[in-house]
Amino acid sequence: MNADLHCHSNVSDGTLTPEALAARAKANGVELWALTDHDEIRGQQRALAAARELGLPYLTGTEISVSFIDVTVHIVGLGFDPADAALAAGLAATRGGRRERALEMATSLAQVGIHGAFEGALKFVGNPDLISRTHFARHLVEAGVCSDTSEVFRRFLTEGKPGYVPHRWARLGDAVRWITAAGGVAVIAHPARYRFSANEEHALFTEFIGHGGRGVEVVTGSHSAAEAVRYAGVALEYGLLASRGSDFHGPGESHTDLGALPELPGTLTPVWEALQHRVVHPQ
Ligand code: AMP
Ligand code: MN
Ligand code: MN
Ligand code: MN
Repeated sequence: MNADLHCHSNVSDGTLTPEALAARAKANGVELWALTDHDEIRGQQRALAAARELGLPYLTGTEISVSFIDVTVHIVGLGFDPADAALAAGLAATRGGRRERALEMATSLAQVGIHGAFEGALKFVGNPDLISRTHFARHLVEAGVCSDTSEVFRRFLTEGKPGYVPHRWARLGDAVRWITAAGGVAVIAHPARYRFSANEEHALFTEFIGHGGRGVEVVTGSHSAAEAVRYAGVALEYGLLASRGSDFHGPGESHTDLGALPELPGTLTPVWEALQHRVVHPQ
């Protein structure tokens, strides 16, 4: 099954509209799709309507920013009720500090001689409530400071580098509960990205499961083939459902296109098996 359950539209830090993403998913052979904007579900109705129009089965989605032992961890939520008020309120609270953070990021960049970064980043923002580091990265490329966004994240915006501003996101337990109370399944996004020690990773997985989390991304655009093998083992070890998603942000920016992913290893239980009743089918 070509399921792609992780990508971003311009309602967060992607470059395409939800409608354009739906069309691209369909054209690329995706058979089950979810739009997972950062800390946002206000693109869900558009994504769902576009998917329905194209005959593409759809699961609701989001990717919640969480602070866990001072590290930012992302929790994907799938198959929740998009009208759930507590989920909407939790997401609104999570994205609440982004504008102030962005102003501080610009102040920090100005200290190394990069001026006007807030205004520059804003030109790339599709949703004023969702200014992210990605928008700053696009501005720094356009301004000629860096040649691509990966260079930006090597030289700026990350811990110890100019433009980095520590931020307190949602708590792990809150994020998992918002998703599960709305009828969805919580999934640890791209676990290889966090660079945790073995003890820290064990703490993340056990606390996540303790709060009711049920899944982990195994095959993702953010994992190498070796990392996918490693997290297939982790999924089995913890008895977690396995998810698959490109984390596509836009053409020319993301190296993994929508639907262009290896299959999940056959030994795993795909997260969509537990979410069959939540799939929105066309018609
Ligand atoms: P924020 O939520 O504002 O902290 O921004 C996080 C986003 O920045 C991620 O979702 C990615 O889209 C992007 N990002 C973070 N690190 C990198 C990286 N090393 N290379 C490319 N994009 C990155
Ligand atoms: Mn992103
Ligand atoms: Mn992420
Ligand atoms: Mn993502």
